[in-house]
Amino acid sequence: MSSTTSPTQVDHLIVGAGFAGLAAAIKLDEAGERDLVVIEKDSDVGGTWHINTYPGAECDVPSQLYSYSFALNPDWSKVYSPQPEILEYIRKVARDSGTLDRFVFNTAVLDSTWDAATQRWNVRTEGPDGPRVYAARTVVSCAGGLSEPRVPEIEGIDSFAGEIFHSARWNHDVDLTGKRIAVIGTGASAIQLVPELQEIAGHVDVYQRTPNWVIPRNERKFTSLEKTAFRKVPGLQRAARSAVYSTLEGRVPAFAKFPDLLKVVEAQGKKNIHGAIKDPELRAKVTPNYRAGCKRILISNKWYPALAADNVDLVTDPIVKITANGVVTADGTERPIDVLVVATGFYVTEPPIAEHVTGKDGRTLADLWNEQGMAAYKGTTIHGFPNLFQIVGPNTALGHSSIIFIIESQVKYVVEAAKAMRREGIGAFEPTLSAQDEWTADIRQKMKPTVWQTGGCASWYQDKFGNNTTLWPGQTFTFRQHLTKFDLDKYDVEPVSAPVKKTRAKKKVSK
Ligand code: NAP
Repeated sequence: MSSTTSPTQVDHLIVGAGFAGLAAAIKLDEAGERDLVVIEKDSDVGGTWHINTYPGAECDVPSQLYSYSFALNPDWSKVYSPQPEILEYIRKVARDSGTLDRFVFNTAVLDSTWDAATQRWNVRTEGPDGPRVYAARTVVSCAGGLSEPRVPEIEGIDSFAGEIFHSARWNHDVDLTGKRIAVIGTGASAIQLVPELQEIAGHVDVYQRTPNWVIPRNERKFTSLEKTAFRKVPGLQRAARSAVYSTLEGRVPAFAKFPDLLKVVEAQGKKNIHGAIKDPELRAKVTPNYRAGCKRILISNKWYPALAADNVDLVTDPIVKITANGVVTADGTERPIDVLVVATGFYVTEPPIAEHVTGKDGRTLADLWNEQGMAAYKGTTIHGFPNLFQIVGPNTALGHSSIIFIIESQVKYVVEAAKAMRREGIGAFEPTLSAQDEWTADIRQKMKPTVWQTGGCASWYQDKFGNNTTLWPGQTFTFRQHLTKFDLDKYDVEPVSAPVKKTRAKKKVSK
């Protein structure tokens, strides 16, 4: 279809086919909201778990909880699942859901513009069949907070003559055996991939700007007896899931109110260092000088042993430039390399996608958020951007538990909103500015005593104004309580101006 043909009318346009987009499709479909399309820029479902294929990629939240509540999986191989297993799980849930016929792959959203006259979003896409326009009653943005790789702006990085790639865009065509490799970054991705590289590379230089607290990973395989029991004993797996949930939730008071309690984690981190590293200089280099939890606490049994290996150097002198052959640090040393891996994270507080979303007064989301930082009512809806839902929006990410719990909470809110639109004959809704401002002010207040604000580190949780616009500063069940009902009294609402297709609820996809 060419862009000159009339737009495709659709009730709900979901952007992104990761955990969030798939949950939105399944739950809207179950509620009878069948007229939906999921646009995905990649070739498959999975989102971050489809894209992040770097060696050693695994989840650092136990899979009993890092999975949908409505699709428990008795077959997880171990406590923390590797990326291929999580991807296969998402694929299976997608296949079983009966919604895949409405997924459009290899298609990018170019821009979305609110049209007040039709009470729809005009969403331009570009896919294998060329450009297309959807006119959608609602847009559910599930593009992910960690989807746009951030490549560091280091002088000369474009002049590097060897292979260079980001951890989230791994180039599997490059044979790394015996190579001299530099890895920039020591975050959650780097600590997983460096031990794998150490085993096959000739030499690895790891460039660390700030050390992280890394505690042991209590990993183990599930026995076949456990898997059978999860499958056969009613309620057992749900009880196991609840136990994981409660354990992780039990840590929230330390993060949110009593950061000094996190000294316990620092003791675990120091023990982890001392167990693997003998060299006092290296021990000192990897020991953080801020409160544990201020940056994400990482878990690994392999990171420190890898740093202590003979073929690995941890470089803490700042990088000043990159040449055609290697990396130059402030002390003037140039370390030659064949391959440069940038494990430098993502655009989180200034998501590039916001530049392409234009609200009712003609301003983009990026215009708004550049002025005042990211903000959304209940992390989900935004004043000036009617009928738009941000899944994993501002202040909904977690430093302690499974983001899928948050995703399911937000998706419930989306479904409740869709029901309210039909029940009340609503054509357009947006949160009132006062409701959104009150919500944001409350978050800022709650954020003040947290370790993310007081812990003495710089982190990507914070935006350029110094506000933590990324994390939810409390218990996840509190977040869920806030989103159980679609609270119409906090919204400016317009009646529908054109007839809307009928719906019929269908049987739930749940186990
Ligand atoms: P990240 O945590 O943001 O780490 C980026 C690393 O790159 C940091 O060490 C950072 O140093 C460094 N860095 C950035 N720019 C640099 C520059 N110009 N020069 C030198 N160093 C630079 O990114 P990530 O490791 O990809 O992880 C991002 C998030 O993804 C995680 O926090 C987590 O939420 C998620 N993740 C989860 C898993 C999992 O197991 N579930 C695995 C991987 C990732 P500074 O600390 O000094 O900024």
